[in-house]
Formats: sequence, structure tokens, C-alpha cells
Amino acid sequence: MKEIKNRLGEELNKAISQKEKIKRRLFEVLIRLASNIPYNSIQTYPRPDHPDQEKRGNLFKCLVSIIISQRTTLEKEMEAGSRLFAKYQTPEEIANASVREIANLIKPAGMSEKKARIIIEVSREILKRYQGKLESLREKPIEMVRREIMELPGIGPKSADCFLELGLGMPSLPVDINVYRTAKRLGFAPSSAGREKVKEIIESLIPKDIEIYRAVHTYLLALGKYYCKATPKCGECPVTEWCRYFKKHQKKK
Ligand code: SF4
Repeated sequence: MKEIKNRLGEELNKAISQKEKIKRRLFEVLIRLASNIPYNSIQTYPRPDHPDQEKRGNLFKCLVSIIISQRTTLEKEMEAGSRLFAKYQTPEEIANASVREIANLIKPAGMSEKKARIIIEVSREILKRYQGKLESLREKPIEMVRREIMELPGIGPKSADCFLELGLGMPSLPVDINVYRTAKRLGFAPSSAGREKVKEIIESLIPKDIEIYRAVHTYLLALGKYYCKATPKCGECPVTEWCRYFKKHQKKK
């Protein structure tokens, strides 16, 4: 009995140190990326000086901007958002507007009719469920907020996590295509893992600190955008020494 307990203990220690090794590798990668990519040059939501600071303070505008930002650039999202918010400010106003008018205002961001329908539906739901005010979400546990936000039309896990991270300052990691790809290629998550699994694994490696969450999100996203594209530019990548994909493919050459 004692023997098997020792064996199990050894396995447990190995598992712990394995996790610690991955954690260490993650932070080494992040530090290298921080030395190579200026934080302020990264055009994403979580960066600390996002040009539209109001989005951090106004939860409704933040959520609408996240919908507008789907499949477009930061510049186009900002242009579309400015046009929309110059005319409509509140869920009441948007809920009563026509799809055509909203679509026209957010046209620079693309997919404008689809996004306009979603924005109007979301505004109506916010009126119904939260009496037009999302502030009450700040008092709720993070898992509950995530579930509730994902019940709104057009809001998937990534958009919900962006809202939690940017709008509410809650530690919830958005796993977009770049974070997903880089986390798996670097070997932080198995290649068979789905997005929720990647999120769970990365979150288990980092402290529940919003600044760290934003940094992880920002740098993995930047790595995917600049180097670790669908066809990776390993020859230019600053983190090859920690990359499982790189090592595997080097051996084959
Ligand atoms: S070394 Fe290649 S595969 Fe690995 S993170 Fe860099 S670009 Fe991606």
C-alpha cells in the first residue's frame, strides 16, 4: 500500500512540475514578445491605451463596439462606432431605430446589415433583462456574467470574453483564432484541444490578474498576427526556442 502511494505521489509531483514547466515557458515567451513587440503598436482591444477610452467606462458602447469589431480592423470599427454613437447613444435609442439606418451608420465595418440586426436585438434584450443598464453585471460572479452575455444574440464566447476583459475588467481570456493557433503550436495546449479547452489550460497557468490576462491576450494575438500566421513565418519569429511546432518541423528537415 505504501509503495503504491509513493508511486502515485511521484506521478503527482511529475504532473505538478510538468505544469510548472509549461507555465515557465509561457512567461518566457511573453517576456520575449514584450521585448520584441511594442505594446502600444498592437491594434487590439486589450492594449492599455486603446484609443477609445470611453469604451472602458460605458458598458453598452463597449458591447456594441465588440459586435461592430467582428471581422474588421480597429480603424474601421472605430470609424463605424463614431458614426453610430454620434447619432445614437443608448439602448432605448438603438432599439427603436431601423435596421437600414443602423446598417448605414456602421457600413465602414462591413457585414453591416447583419451586425445592425444584432445590435438592435441586443439593445432590446438589454432593455428587457437589465432595464437598459449593464452596470449590475459588475456585482455578479464572472462565470454568471459570461453565461448571461453569451445568451444575448450574436455574442459568442470570444465576444463575451472581450466584453468581460475590456469592459468589466474581469479576468476571462478571449481565445480568438490567433491565440488559439499560437497556444497550440507553442505546445501550451494539445493540438486536439478546442477553444474552450485552450482557454481553460491557459487560464490555469496564470494568476487571476486582469493586467496579466490582457498581456497574455495581447501578446499571443500579436504573435499570431505578425509571425504565427496560418503559414507560420518561423524564420522571423522571436520565440522559436520555446516552440513545439518549430522543433517538430525542424527535425523533419
Ligand atoms: S516558431 Fe513558428 S510555429 Fe512557433 S510560434 Fe513562431 S511562427 Fe509560430
